[in-house]
Amino acid sequence: MTTEIPADDCFAMPPGVKWLPVDDAINRIISNFVPRDKTEKISLHDAAGRILAEPITALRNNPAMSNSAVDGFGFSFDSLQEKKVLELEGGYVAPGALLGKSVPFGKAIKILTGAPLPSGVDTVQLQEYAQIKSNFPQSNTRLEKGANTRLAGEDIQVGDLLFVKGHKIKTNDLATLIAAGIEKIKVFTKLRVGVLSTGNELVPTGMSPEPTKVFDANRPMILSLIDKLGFIPIDLGLARDIKEEVRSKLNLGSSSSDIILTSGGASSGMEDYVSHLLSKEGELNFWRIAIKPGRPLALAKWHDTYIFGLPGNPIAAFVCTLIFGLPAMRILSGENWIPPVGFMVPSAFRKIKKPGRREYLRAKTNNAGMVEVFASEGSGLTTSLSWSEGLVELGEDTQNINKGDLVKYYPYCSFWG
Ligand code: AMP
Ligand code: MG
Repeated sequence: MTTEIPADDCFAMPPGVKWLPVDDAINRIISNFVPRDKTEKISLHDAAGRILAEPITALRNNPAMSNSAVDGFGFSFDSLQEKKVLELEGGYVAPGALLGKSVPFGKAIKILTGAPLPSGVDTVQLQEYAQIKSNFPQSNTRLEKGANTRLAGEDIQVGDLLFVKGHKIKTNDLATLIAAGIEKIKVFTKLRVGVLSTGNELVPTGMSPEPTKVFDANRPMILSLIDKLGFIPIDLGLARDIKEEVRSKLNLGSSSSDIILTSGGASSGMEDYVSHLLSKEGELNFWRIAIKPGRPLALAKWHDTYIFGLPGNPIAAFVCTLIFGLPAMRILSGENWIPPVGFMVPSAFRKIKKPGRREYLRAKTNNAGMVEVFASEGSGLTTSLSWSEGLVELGEDTQNINKGDLVKYYPYCSFWG
């Protein structure tokens, strides 16, 4: 098999230049960012999506009392072994109340799902398997001691560590927290993320601009992404490539946000005032990362507020927010960083790739369980972004992909789930 190097590639690295590998860039981000220490106490009702600022230990056993897992008949297992036929005791046990008496050896009592096991009962026979005629014959189903019961504390015991600091509370955690007797939790305040677009060519939507102008797509897109990630989006508006305008927007951002994402003007072009300003008056780290789409990425600080200078191209801005912005924002927000989950999926496409950089392709899975990529890789094709449901990640060393080869696919929900 031969490897062709695609010609005329604006993302190609100049010969001899070693660009920063994606993982190194992510590791630098991870080691540079620390959680803010702003916390608040909130009710469990508002807890989904919030980040714990302290570990949570259980205050109550779950179940609090041993109880029946089914509607049926409760009795002592040993009495059934001895007597084979049990007599039915009068009354029944319902959830939420105690029977108030014990069930004698050799007798069975009707019990409903969730009802506490009375003393004398350690096993429950499912109603459907019991024949009742004033007695209780052993059914032909095998019954073990403790069958159809839930033991006190079998799920959660007082003092159990349920969640560590930095855990993001999910909807499916709420039942556990409530069962464990938790009412209020200490969480990090929501991260405020300022979003700024820069560029003389940009106009906000709602205008009818000259053909030379470009609608500002990044700001609404990134603001919506921030909202999806569970942070507070702060719209810092649009700044033309005028130093004073960029400066006042950065000032506004640093007073209202914990981190600012700017797009456009991050390279070293003549009008790239974001880079100019940050390098002169702030702190600027300028990274050339071996990623496509990507181009330059600036990591900076303005008055103690972190700034991510994203590429202006909407597709690159979107991908770079997910790949580099996400670890930074998650760590700042207090969340323990867990990389997004990718899946190995057979490829429905062929591709010849230049080695040495990582590529993220707009992709989605098809009904055959294979992953397709958008027909054209053109970096300006916003339709490719709306067509896609995730990204295929091709590693630095990958060169040839044939149909059926396993490739790493990240559904977008892996990033914001
Ligand atoms: P830049 O990073 O400023 O060199 O911009 C790269 C490309 O992205 C240019 O074609 C810009 O016009 C375009 N671009 C920059 N910012 C935005 C934006 N907010 N919305 C849409 N396109 C943009
Ligand atoms: Mg620009």
